[in-house]
Amino acid sequence: MLDDVFCKIVSGEIKADIVYKDNDFWVIKDINPQAPVHLLIIPAKHFTSLEDFMEGENDGLLGRAFVVAHKVAHKAGIAEKGYRLILNEGEDGGKLVPHLHIHLLGGKKLGPKIVK
Ligand code: AMP
Repeated sequence: MLDDVFCKIVSGEIKADIVYKDNDFWVIKDINPQAPVHLLIIPAKHFTSLEDFMEGENDGLLGRAFVVAHKVAHKAGIAEKGYRLILNEGEDGGKLVPHLHIHLLGGKKLGPKIVK
């Protein structure tokens, strides 16, 4: 396990509000929500970034992340009205936590687009 906050959540060192868990993924509530529903889909295995992920054998893991996103959007009751998935990558992408993750946002009509 590495030192980033999501590895610490997966190892149990830090508590989180967990909404879904399987062998490969944890889904938690974002601590600083930007929408009524703001979840983070986090691979249990550490990948620092998408760049890092692409370098190894990944066995379709990211494809399964979208299956998990679909599942938790239904569980949160927002699938019908819609939601947004975001993956921040690198400095320009505004990534803060160096552990690959996907944001799932919804529960209200989101802004027209995400680029400022
Ligand atoms: P990113 O900019 O894509 O790296 O976003 C990281 C996200 O992780 C931010 O939206 C933070 O609010 C969220 N975050 C940071 N620490 C925690 C934590 N301990 N529990 C839940 N979410 C967190």
